[in-house]
Amino acid sequence: MNNRVNIHFQDTASVGIQPTWYRDVSPAQWNDLSTLPILKEYTFLSDAARVYMAWQVHSTRVIVIEKHDDTRQMSDIPQADALITNQPCVALAVLTADCLPIMYYDPVHQAIAAIHAGWRGSIAKIAQITFEHMHRHYGTQASDLQVFLGPCAQVCCYQVDEQFIENLAVDPYRDKVCIKKNGVWFFNNLLYNYLCLKDLGVPDHSILQSFSQCTIHNHNYWSYRRQKNNALRNFNSIMLI
Ligand SMILES: [Zn+2]
Repeated sequence: MNNRVNIHFQDTASVGIQPTWYRDVSPAQWNDLSTLPILKEYTFLSDAARVYMAWQVHSTRVIVIEKHDDTRQMSDIPQADALITNQPCVALAVLTADCLPIMYYDPVHQAIAAIHAGWRGSIAKIAQITFEHMHRHYGTQASDLQVFLGPCAQVCCYQVDEQFIENLAVDPYRDKVCIKKNGVWFFNNLLYNYLCLKDLGVPDHSILQSFSQCTIHNHNYWSYRRQKNNALRNFNSIMLI
């Protein structure tokens, strides 16, 4: 067992990805995105035999990456917001520009996940659903999971309106994650996912938050809130090596 994992949270020091990258990719190419010219610039992917990212749609759909299957026929790039695998040298990537990238590493079963958690995915419990897929496919236990929370819009800047708060009307975390300052609401997406992970049984010391800068006020990151349609996407990846 090699017990090594390679995690990368990208900032604007590297080239960002176009949010609509999937329009330029044929379904046949999806089984190995490492051939995309943009990804060739990412030296941290140089050991990757294959690279996967989904067409992200703020869902809770999880894709399981198995051994390479050349015969797979697809009519379109798969839509999903989490990827899991136990295959070495397969990079799983999620793109973000304020949403939270979450990486899971199960060192016991040598399995990983990459999750795109915007507020919709977060409150629909994509963190929990992705864990359940890893549990089912690889036997992952919450007590074994190592979690890496990446850069995202944080509660200092993530302003929301009254209508947004209604989305969490019956949510048990509502009062902890929706903060009112001077009459204005802010949402704490990072804390929301942290609370989900704690409730799943992931130990506190296994949830690493030190990578999680605020993408809105920290100009080292692409941010949809700050840059609007000029924002490219931060490329965040995890790979077993
Ligand atoms: Zn901030």
